[in-house]
Amino acid sequence: MKITVVGTGYVGLVSGACLAEVGNDVLCLDLDKEKIRILEEGGIPIFEPGLLEMVKRNVAAGRLHFTTDIDQAVAHGTIQFIAVGTPPDEDGSADLKYVLSAARNIGKRMTDYKVVVDKSTVPVGTGDKVRAAIAEELKARGIDVPYSVVSNPEFLKEGAAVEDFMRPDRIVVGAEDEQAIHLMRALYAPFQRNHERLLVMDIRSAELTKYAANAMLATRISFMNELALLSEKLGADIELVRQGIGSDPRIGWHFLYAGCGYGGSCFPKDVQALIRTSNGVEQPMHVLQAVEVANERQKHVLVNKIVARFGENLAGKRFALWGLAFKPNTDDMREAPSRVIIEELFKRGATVTAYDPVAMHEAQRIFGDDKRLSYAEQPMSALEGADALVIVTEWKEFRSPDFDGIKAKLKSPVIIDGRNMFSPELPRAAGLEYSGIGRN
Ligand code: NAD
Repeated sequence: MKITVVGTGYVGLVSGACLAEVGNDVLCLDLDKEKIRILEEGGIPIFEPGLLEMVKRNVAAGRLHFTTDIDQAVAHGTIQFIAVGTPPDEDGSADLKYVLSAARNIGKRMTDYKVVVDKSTVPVGTGDKVRAAIAEELKARGIDVPYSVVSNPEFLKEGAAVEDFMRPDRIVVGAEDEQAIHLMRALYAPFQRNHERLLVMDIRSAELTKYAANAMLATRISFMNELALLSEKLGADIELVRQGIGSDPRIGWHFLYAGCGYGGSCFPKDVQALIRTSNGVEQPMHVLQAVEVANERQKHVLVNKIVARFGENLAGKRFALWGLAFKPNTDDMREAPSRVIIEELFKRGATVTAYDPVAMHEAQRIFGDDKRLSYAEQPMSALEGADALVIVTEWKEFRSPDFDGIKAKLKSPVIIDGRNMFSPELPRAAGLEYSGIGRN
């Protein structure tokens, strides 16, 4: 099939590469010339496990191309995926300007049947807006070209995006005409060979499904985080509580970890957008308002622990930070707890030496040449003379550190662990003061 993907961010580039991988002829469009230059030169603008190899393989096979030329992009695919950003507007609702501009670009140029598939996360009713935007452009051109609008929200996780796209748990397709449903079934058949995972529904339900999924996951995290704070007050251990409840199949093990708050480009903005949507129809979701408040508070928990140990004035202190990305296996720092922690430490006069396996270039882009933030080449070298080790992202390589070595390097033997990476006995046996989240 001939497919165009509009937007080569995490979702667009992964979708484009994976669709090419199964034999489709894919053209990826982005208006960001720098991204397309990197892709044309054989690189990728983001870090995502397995993606570079897949992109290279499919470019070499002639199935994957990149362009900044909208005319070429619209002419190419019968299926036109829209995978552009939907950042929060000033009031927290999703800003649809990129989605609608992509739709208009299609309407302005299409000359034959197109299926316009929205993969971006968009509020309920966007399908109608996309359809209307295209209709307006066609009307302005005085022509009538057939097209279908489909909602196909994406559920991939950054850090495992290729794997998730190639082996999806489910594929949600919101579509209201047979021709589009038929094409989407054919498109996704290679990704669900052992059993059917494609759920066809109306567009509005598909749009809401994506928000419902992210809001539910964010709710679990905030619930566990609040329970962790309660555990600390009550002298209980959240890790034991987690095991006690996770074994109930109605609750399950996934997404049940207390930590220093969720971040990333999706949960915070999607929770906010659903709050706005629900308020807008006078059906407020009180649960989600609490989820958001709890998460904002949680991003400060590590700094509160630092202040409790070292005092409010941190002038002259330097903290080693392990992890900058909002989660492991990605270089994404959008809404990452590390950003709040670094800013709060700066405010109190401290400096930071950070280590992250892949996100340090992103931190450099965000913090520029702020001298208060330095970077270490290795996790252990960040500790040299630091006042404490603060763990913010649960990268695998931090799981089994040399605790004696940590103690020897730190000025004061303190580990503040925002991801409950270790059994407290291990660092404590090495003479370290250890504080996790919700652990006594
Ligand atoms: P991103 O910001 O990484 O990428 C979006 C890209 O679209 C950018 O490269 C931008 O230059 C490009 N763009 C914007 N307008 C354009 C236009 N008119 N024509 C061509 N290109 C254009 O975003 P992302 O993280 O890939 O997210 C995209 C959408 O998918 C969002 O709605 C997001 O909520 C959703 N989503 C993201 C994830 C994730 O893990 N990142 C997962 C599921 C869903």
